[in-house]
Amino acid sequence: MTENEAPSLLRVPVILGHSQVVGLIGWPIEHSVSPPMHNAAFEALGLDWCYVPLPVHPRRLREAVEGVRALGLCGVNATVPHKQALIPLLDALTPAAETIGAVNTIIVEGGELLGHNTDAGGFMRALREAGFPPDGCTALVLGAGGAARAVVYALGGVADRVMVLNRTPQRARDLAEGFQRRVSARLEGGPLEVETLSEAASEVDLVVNATPVGMWPEENASPWPQEIPFPPGAFCFDLVYNPRETHLMHTARAVGAGASNGLGMLVHQGAEAFERWTGRDAPVKVMYAACEQVLERK
Ligand code: NAP
Repeated sequence: MTENEAPSLLRVPVILGHSQVVGLIGWPIEHSVSPPMHNAAFEALGLDWCYVPLPVHPRRLREAVEGVRALGLCGVNATVPHKQALIPLLDALTPAAETIGAVNTIIVEGGELLGHNTDAGGFMRALREAGFPPDGCTALVLGAGGAARAVVYALGGVADRVMVLNRTPQRARDLAEGFQRRVSARLEGGPLEVETLSEAASEVDLVVNATPVGMWPEENASPWPQEIPFPPGAFCFDLVYNPRETHLMHTARAVGAGASNGLGMLVHQGAEAFERWTGRDAPVKVMYAACEQVLERK
């Protein structure tokens, strides 16, 4: 097997007495693609590591985080609903995690728990990989939740201007105001409405959907109202990856715009965590292939 081939997901990794253990805490987590994605990567590089699902009820989060330290794990990923709640339980945060206000990766260093956010870096790597260099662009982000915060943090360092529109407008305004002194781009927040969207559409180079609208089983829904033409010169990046081609992506492609789903962000946030834990370059192609195998079965 080469580094670019994904091993069969049905293969059980060999776990030895000295294997390094990482995992995923969340509730629920049974649908996560992270265990097969990381285990495929460990196997491809011949690393004696394994990645295990660790379902943690919100009431047991404190004990679980202490357990990461006590059990000698090398780190964990964190997903919904723990990304914000675990922050006070950690020893230190990276600047990205602190600004975004969410942790999706814990790294254990000398017994200390460092909280990091790889969604921002994962988004940026995926966006560039999809063929859109965001440097100096004017971006429109739909949504102001946890994922939008990571996206705005990432774009804030390289874009010229980032507009955040959200169903609950105050959340978008709070995001823009709260981030402004930490990023170089000009940030604005407002309501996700036909009027604001059509105004923004005439100015943007990049549209990012950071809402769950359009996700299976509601794949006919779109955060982009039908009556507004999608700007043909803009690139569409939809964080949703199930379905692979979302309604919003279809709308963008119909006017000749480029479009990408969120699978690249998923893979690259995992790749950054992998690299932080192991110190090795992540085998990204293997990780893509493992995700594809899992998603095909859904
Ligand atoms: P979240 O914190 O719950 O935020 C959801 C956001 O979407 C909020 O701004 C919310 O607006 C908005 N929203 C929800 N339903 C809406 C609707 N029907 N119409 C308009 N706006 C709506 O969730 P999140 O963690 O940011 O995740 C958002 C999406 O990104 C999810 O689909 C998630 O799967 C995806 N995601 C993908 C990746 C990846 O690697 N590809 C990573 C992270 C997240 P209000 O503020 O008004 O409630």
